[in-house]
Amino acid sequence: MPAAFQALTKRIKVKRRKWKQFCTTIREWKMVAKALVSRDHPILAHIIPTRRCNLACTYCNEYDDFSDPIPTDVICERLDRLADLGTAIVTISGGEPLMHPELEVVIARIRQRGMLTGLISNGYLMSRKRIQSLNAAGLEHLQISIDNVEPDDVSKKSLKVLDKKLGYLAELADFKVNINSVLGSGVQDPYDALLIGRRAVELGFTCTVGIIHDGAGALKPLAEREKEIFYQLTDLGKKGYPQVNQYFQENLVKGKPNGWRCRAGARYLYICEDGLVHYCSQQRGYPGIPLEQYGVEDIRREYLTEKPCAPHCTISCVHQASMADFWRAPQNLEAFADLPSRPVKTGSKRPPMEDLLQLE
Ligand code: SF4
Ligand code: SF4
Repeated sequence: MPAAFQALTKRIKVKRRKWKQFCTTIREWKMVAKALVSRDHPILAHIIPTRRCNLACTYCNEYDDFSDPIPTDVICERLDRLADLGTAIVTISGGEPLMHPELEVVIARIRQRGMLTGLISNGYLMSRKRIQSLNAAGLEHLQISIDNVEPDDVSKKSLKVLDKKLGYLAELADFKVNINSVLGSGVQDPYDALLIGRRAVELGFTCTVGIIHDGAGALKPLAEREKEIFYQLTDLGKKGYPQVNQYFQENLVKGKPNGWRCRAGARYLYICEDGLVHYCSQQRGYPGIPLEQYGVEDIRREYLTEKPCAPHCTISCVHQASMADFWRAPQNLEAFADLPSRPVKTGSKRPPMEDLLQLE
């Protein structure tokens, strides 16, 4: 193929990708406008098409190594219910969602029902072919979390292992890609987070950073070196990703609790593999109502329910989904009496519910 023709094809591909990403941004702004007008619908829902994961990060309490994928027709029924509730964004999480054999059908259904679609993956199963099939299905946003540069005993989500896959994504993905790194308890070398962020930006992706609790779910201020890295990463992230929850993150960095109204159960829903609605991945069991029975009355109740775990919460996506409502509707309903006042501890598999209730 002549070089001029190749260059032209490449330019057309880049323009097509930019146009698709611009359309996604327009849809995101429409979603924000709708959220400001009405309180009665979820902004973001996480669904779990499989609990199984191909990795075994030692801090994770959200996976197993044996579950079968949830049948696609069951997932589609759940998606239809979420669409009927007016949900704006559905993010597919896990386990590792790329292990679901019909993930693309799930993505296409989300788009058919008019919702924005996101995917959180460890990236291990990403291939050129898979990226093209995710493009065709209509994926709009992908997040890959990378924990370190070299694999260690805690996590194999490592830049060294994933860099080739990131190159494929930079070349082929029509969807937006965000790379999330982490700082805080259990991270051996905080400088890794900076290297990961820089590589993300170099490849044309956005980057974010998450702060993790210590093993008891407690907030500790970051050490000086970690703080410096956090602020450098925040500057890097500003080049592409809206830092809508920077104030929230900055308090976590300083070890301070946050004063905010968690609208989990209303603006954010976590739908587990069994189709139950939970506040979030770390407060599973509350309210624990089947999605098919979940309605506007539940949304209104949870909107006004104060969550005792909010001050110590590090779950950034729920914070973002709650932001449209910070300035209105103080919460005056009490949460379940036994709801722990901190998210379930990280650094271990999820304890049985009886242990969870004794966390405090
Ligand atoms: S953190 Fe992600 S990749 Fe690691 S075990 Fe949990 S689900 Fe799997
Ligand atoms: S852990 Fe965070 S997101 Fe979950 S219910 Fe508590 S405050 Fe809300």
